[in-house]
Amino acid sequence: MRKILVVGAGQSGLQLALGLQSKGYEVTLMSNRTADEIRSGRVMSTQCMFHTALQHERDLGLNFWESQAPRIEGLGVSVAGPTGEQPGTTPRVIDWVGKLDGYAQSVDQRVKMAGWMETFAQRGGQLVIHGAAVSDLDYFSRTYDLVLVSAGKGELVSMFGRDASRSPYAEPQRALAVSYVHGLGPRPEHPEFDAVRCNLVPGVGELFIMPTVTLSGRADILFWEGIPGGPLDAFKGIKDPAEHLALTLELMEKFVPWEYARATKVELTDAGGTLAGRYAPTVRNPIGRLPSGGLVLGVADVVVANDPITGQGSNSASKCAASYLDSIVERGDEPFDESWMQTTFDRYWETAQHVTKWTNAMLGAPPEHVLNLIGAAGDLQPIADRFANGFNDPSDFENFFYDPTLTGAYIAEVGESQGPAGERVP
Ligand SMILES: Cc1cc2nc3c(=O)[nH]c(=O)nc-3n(C[C@H](O)[C@H](O)[C@H](O)COP(=O)(O)OP(=O)(O)OC[C@H]3O[C@@H](n4cnc5c(N)ncnc54)[C@H](O)[C@@H]3O)c2cc1C
Repeated sequence: MRKILVVGAGQSGLQLALGLQSKGYEVTLMSNRTADEIRSGRVMSTQCMFHTALQHERDLGLNFWESQAPRIEGLGVSVAGPTGEQPGTTPRVIDWVGKLDGYAQSVDQRVKMAGWMETFAQRGGQLVIHGAAVSDLDYFSRTYDLVLVSAGKGELVSMFGRDASRSPYAEPQRALAVSYVHGLGPRPEHPEFDAVRCNLVPGVGELFIMPTVTLSGRADILFWEGIPGGPLDAFKGIKDPAEHLALTLELMEKFVPWEYARATKVELTDAGGTLAGRYAPTVRNPIGRLPSGGLVLGVADVVVANDPITGQGSNSASKCAASYLDSIVERGDEPFDESWMQTTFDRYWETAQHVTKWTNAMLGAPPEHVLNLIGAAGDLQPIADRFANGFNDPSDFENFFYDPTLTGAYIAEVGESQGPAGERVP
């Protein structure tokens, strides 16, 4: 059977390794950390995954935590008004929630990646614990039919040239600060179901809140995305997790007090429950050329890394793994040559391009027609629902998000179908 090396045991690498293994390929997986090191380490993401991405996991029988993870049935948006002089006085000017057609879920990557890695080894896969260098890949490319590099945003990305035409930003657009907590109070707006909430603070950044399942059971994630140089860009250099959480809460009281009101009793899930950092969103050329002339194919974040503002990276990693798996299987015994690698990436880019376009748009100041759309979703539930479901399939935003004319026509069409404002059933 054909021999495949997968370098990097994250969402894409593990999903691909397990998928290839189930189809009879001889798979070696290289990880720079053991399952125990991942489990006892720091959180890596907020990893909210929507229906299509979750379905790829189900198709491979890898949905081990589906019954334990909270079902995220909606996606809400709040917009803060002008920041109040005193903490707790900033008003909320927009507040709505859209319902998802299929639920989303977040499983702490420490739980999922450690569990999947152990499953891969139990099923007879060869697991090598080693941080791969380019020289290692040079050697291995001669002994494997295909080398896939799924090492996320780590140093191996230097093998893949930046595609400037698809990467409008050269610098990070947000400073990220994550806290996993227990003890968040129920959401008063809709206590009967779980949702992700995007709190937009114009000119300052965003606070995302979402339920997850972590090492100690159900938890919630508080995730600040701050515009660099602004008031939320304040986590750099903070090493103490308690200090990180205290700053998170202080900023919530100032900018999104309706969320702070639920958070007065929270505590960190564990000592590894915080994360801070930043990176520039980057699309890369998918094929890496090794010093000896061998070729490797980049996977997921290695080749398309978007800012997490739209919560798409794990979704894209799952979609990339599913698409590459199909391309590998369909290749049969033919060589995994340069032209196949390019075609394999291009097939994934058909999906990924919509994620990149939408995510990069969300990083900029919203134009007037987008503000109108977000405002209209508060009055017109079909708009809220469609916006929420765009997180599952961002290609739909082409139909109503980017072009002011299309946006205006869509709002008018939904408004007419719902009847005059005073007569609408809420
Ligand atoms: C703060 C934050 C919040 C996020 N929130 C969301 C969200 O809500 N929804 C969503 O869909 N996405 C989210 N993402 C993005 C998502 O986590 C990533 O896009 C996704 O994990 C990428 O998967 P991947 O397989 O490409 O890489 P990764 O998951 O990064 O996996 C790469 C693996 O390779 C290993 N590795 C690195 N270098 C080497 C080497 N040389 N040798 C061997 N192993 C190596 C790493 O240790 C890691 O285990 C978020 C990201 C961040 C930072």
